Amino acid sequence: MTIPKDARICLSAEEIPKKWYNLAADLKGIKPMLNPVTREPVKEKELEAIFCKEIIKQEMSKERYIGIPDEVREGYVALNRPSYLQRAYRLEKYLRTPAKIYFKREDMSPLGSHKGNTALAQAYFNAKSGITTLTTETGAGQWGTALAMVSNLYGLDSTVFMVRGSYEQKPFRKTLMNTYGCKVYSSPSMQTEYGRKVLKEHPETSGSLGIAISEACELAAQSGGTVKYALGSVMNHVMLHQTVIGLETMEQMKIGEIEPDYMVACVGGGSNFAGFTFPMMGETMRGKNECQYIAVEPEAAPSMSKGEFKYDFGDSAGMTPLILMYTLGSEFIPNAIHAGGLRYHGMSPLVSEACHQGFVKPVAYDQTSTFEAGVLFARTEGMVPAPESCHAVKAAMDLALECKESKEEKTIVFCLSGHGYLDLGGYEKFVNGTLESSAL
Ligand SMILES: *Cc1c(COP(=O)(O)O)cnc(C)c1O
Repeated sequence: MTIPKDARICLSAEEIPKKWYNLAADLKGIKPMLNPVTREPVKEKELEAIFCKEIIKQEMSKERYIGIPDEVREGYVALNRPSYLQRAYRLEKYLRTPAKIYFKREDMSPLGSHKGNTALAQAYFNAKSGITTLTTETGAGQWGTALAMVSNLYGLDSTVFMVRGSYEQKPFRKTLMNTYGCKVYSSPSMQTEYGRKVLKEHPETSGSLGIAISEACELAAQSGGTVKYALGSVMNHVMLHQTVIGLETMEQMKIGEIEPDYMVACVGGGSNFAGFTFPMMGETMRGKNECQYIAVEPEAAPSMSKGEFKYDFGDSAGMTPLILMYTLGSEFIPNAIHAGGLRYHGMSPLVSEACHQGFVKPVAYDQTSTFEAGVLFARTEGMVPAPESCHAVKAAMDLALECKESKEEKTIVFCLSGHGYLDLGGYEKFVNGTLESSAL
């Protein structure tokens, strides 16, 4: 048997993109973040308490392309970029579908997820502007791990507030962050005023991303300028950095003569979805293709499927600016599902606006059906997907099964946002038959 040309499409290190793509150039009608007190659009100066200038510039930019510094492109090599685009022949065969299924391998990063793509860029710009320490929150632990690793690369210290539910479920995540020299606290923690307040009112809480964000922002805001905050999702500059995924994918699709009918990714705050789809979606907005974009949520936190499109806070304490987005309410605390990275009440404003304008179709699945899909993927393709990525696998499989019904040979490309080798707790329960469905 000859190996088909599209079995795996690789790019060389020199082909790492030279520019990030900014959807804000093509998506019309984007509304600004508001100061919660004055209700006026947030000014760059106001963000300087927690972010460095270059990051703020990118956050506000409407330029279509923003150059990737060579030092960052070189760092991407350490993250195993460019990642492969691979075809899921065995899964297709198992499903007996006429559809073609491809997946982008963000699991190839030594960090196990796509999060390093923006962590690296943020650490680089902060280090260049003289910051000494980065702080952040982490849910599943993927983002904290990413920030811990790249901070080290650029000589920065790091402090991570880890949502208590994950902190207790995933002790090896903490070990990994400690290995990179990072300080890790279970959130809510005793390190911040907000953490102490939450602990006093809800001593048994399993925590939430919103609470952990508030703690990290408090640490940065009170540092007098040496500590800056880094966010792993939601904000525009994060979506921008992640487009390295989609730009590579488009190059690979060109080589493989692949024209996608669907691009599918899971959504927590929206960054792997945005990074994977935005370069292609920009072309859809400019009338160049008719691809459909499917954003896959957990039923436990269905912000686009069930939330409202309105101005809301990004955190629980109400310290962030007001953001126009799909939200379940900033005080919403989702069930403690294993896909910790999808436990967020809101959604990236760019993904939200694109959804509001009909460019994104949200779907939601319960925990059991996503692990079932993940196990099937592991048994056919070999890789164990992260619990978050299982959502994308499930939606891609359902589309492939629809094609079987309708006998259509459609092309489905999904983003495998990460691997699950540090999240085997959920798989253990699934194979033992004790996994809860954890819907709303
Ligand atoms: C964090 C994470 C997600 C969810 O975050 P997004 O910003 O929506 O991408 C999904 N998959 C993996 C593997 C993650 O680590």
